[in-house]
Amino acid sequence: MTIFSKIIKGEIPCNKVLENDEFLAFHDINPKAPIHILIIPKVEVQNFQQVTPEIMAKMTSFIQEVATLLGLDESGYRLITNNGDNGGQEVMHLHFHLLGGAKLAWGHLADSDSKNFF
Ligand code: AMP
Repeated sequence: MTIFSKIIKGEIPCNKVLENDEFLAFHDINPKAPIHILIIPKVEVQNFQQVTPEIMAKMTSFIQEVATLLGLDESGYRLITNNGDNGGQEVMHLHFHLLGGAKLAWGHLADSDSKNFF
């Protein structure tokens, strides 16, 4: 079981932004931007490569709702999902990083410091 499954079950607390029956959005514990939200499905899906189009369709609407709730629909944001080892995925439960609140830098992502380029 991943740490995100424990958050879904309420065994570990989170700083919640929005929740419905199928998805949960909460603040990243180690933010890489002024606003850094993680958005996850409650069903166990390992990563983007494993997700079905049906779940993604509903997740897309939920992500858009979170962005609007935080005013990021107007100011802009970056949406990232790390997939697998080379993608830098650390928690093996599908999650999207929603980053905003400032103009975000963009750099080459193939070095060991890539997390600083969010
Ligand atoms: P990734 O590297 O894409 O798998 O991202 C995992 C993210 O989960 C990182 O940005 C972590 O800071 C974040 N994270 C890990 N544990 C927690 C937690 N308990 N609450 C909130 N965010 C977490």
